[in-house]
Amino acid sequence: MSGYQAAVTADVARYLVARGIGREEAATARLGVVADPHPGHDRFRGFLAIPYLDRDGKPLSIRFRCLQDHDHRAYFHGKYMSLADEPPRAYNIRAVHEAGDELHIAEGELDAIILNKVGLPAIAIPGVHMWFGRHRRMLAGFSRTYVWADPDDAGADFTNKVRRSLRSAKGVRLRVGDVTDTYMAGGAEALHALIPSLV
Ligand SMILES: [Zn+2]
Repeated sequence: MSGYQAAVTADVARYLVARGIGREEAATARLGVVADPHPGHDRFRGFLAIPYLDRDGKPLSIRFRCLQDHDHRAYFHGKYMSLADEPPRAYNIRAVHEAGDELHIAEGELDAIILNKVGLPAIAIPGVHMWFGRHRRMLAGFSRTYVWADPDDAGADFTNKVRRSLRSAKGVRLRVGDVTDTYMAGGAEALHALIPSLV
């Protein structure tokens, strides 16, 4: 996976910068590009490689995001792809260990990178079908958790599922798109302003 990290091209660096992710965040998250695929990764050639790191920064797993602006179904893949037979994992579990008594939950990995960048320790659970009881147990110790789901039906389902499962969870109401859109439009203040007050 370090090979993928070394393969970040200027084009991909620009793609990330357009989503608020600079060189430093990309390096911390060990983002990369599948330029020279590992065995079994041929179908992800050219994709963004998003490693799922453990608390010490070692890769546990990896997901791939297609960087082409096309109809992914026409190419027989999704925008995001996982390896087969992977257990469902939370992204950036380091945040669980480093956060105080509040944790933020994003729906997408790149959104979680943005939240961490603006000082909000965040994991990502990539979609409603990836939330499992093990995540509830992992997050049970936090006095407050905030769910940053996309402002669409799938996002509402995600927020509802987490809130039913986790008593500390509060939904954040995004208005101008997802976390990344909000950050690009209004910066860190725009995200901080959306956090519901405790009263
Ligand atoms: Zn695609």
